Amino acid sequence: MKKIVAVFFVSLLMLSPLLPGQAHAANGDKLLVATTFTVIADLARNVAGDAADVVSITRPGAEIHNYKPTPRDLLKVRDADIVLWNGLGLELWFEKFIARVKNATDVVVSDGVEPLPIRDGPYATKPNPHAWMSTDDVSIYVRNIESALTKADPDNAELYNRNAEEYIGQIKAVATGIENRLSIVPEEKRWLATTEGAFSYLARQFGLKEIYLWPMNADGQGTPEQVKSMVDAVRENDIPVVFSESTVSDKPAKQVARDTGAVYGGVLYVDSLSEEDGAVPTYLDLLRVTTETVVKGLAGE
Ligand SMILES: [Zn+2]
Repeated sequence: MKKIVAVFFVSLLMLSPLLPGQAHAANGDKLLVATTFTVIADLARNVAGDAADVVSITRPGAEIHNYKPTPRDLLKVRDADIVLWNGLGLELWFEKFIARVKNATDVVVSDGVEPLPIRDGPYATKPNPHAWMSTDDVSIYVRNIESALTKADPDNAELYNRNAEEYIGQIKAVATGIENRLSIVPEEKRWLATTEGAFSYLARQFGLKEIYLWPMNADGQGTPEQVKSMVDAVRENDIPVVFSESTVSDKPAKQVARDTGAVYGGVLYVDSLSEEDGAVPTYLDLLRVTTETVVKGLAGE
């Protein structure tokens, strides 16, 4: 008899719908915020302070565009009060994923950003999703996060507002530092040659010219045609340094460096933060370390 009762309860658990908002009670009164990736999680933590808990569905270092969610990821979201995602076609897996969670409140944090188009490849003319790489655009993200948190938890509205203001101030200070550092590189030398075309927003803001092996990580990566066309562009423009990104293979970029005599300048961070003890545990670190690597490469330091 006991066994039958146990089986009954187990099947009840398995059948229970994935309802969001349950953690609000389970968690004391703290809001639980789920995010699709580590960059948005860090932005949200800065706005939330101690008033809300923030989790990222994907882990540090994960490839975000074509991520394959696991059943465990659904559990993370099941208890969340709100789910923040980038949108602009970044998380190709998200809509199908979130459809499996009943009553989930999801918020697109890039809402209001003026998107730059992807220039070529199968996604040509669609929005380039990497808008968080512009500090102007990321301030829109921060405001959207503030408003989502405030709507879900009005009691802490003042705190979320204060945190957002302060954080946007920190972001602006980092942007000024980047401008100062880049000013040592002559304008005609400001080329950003990378693996994924993920730096269009950063390049526009800081006056860099961008070339890349492939437009988006969702496409074919490192084909002979991509390598050849990058080799031609690096030679033609006399570009001294070529980079890759932390979430993709460095082989195609190293190949381009070998074939052209350019220096391989190391890893840039864009689609993910690192672990806590890694190079870029926060978004501000991601901006600082990535641009410093670019400046050092271009200046030959
Ligand atoms: Zn990307």
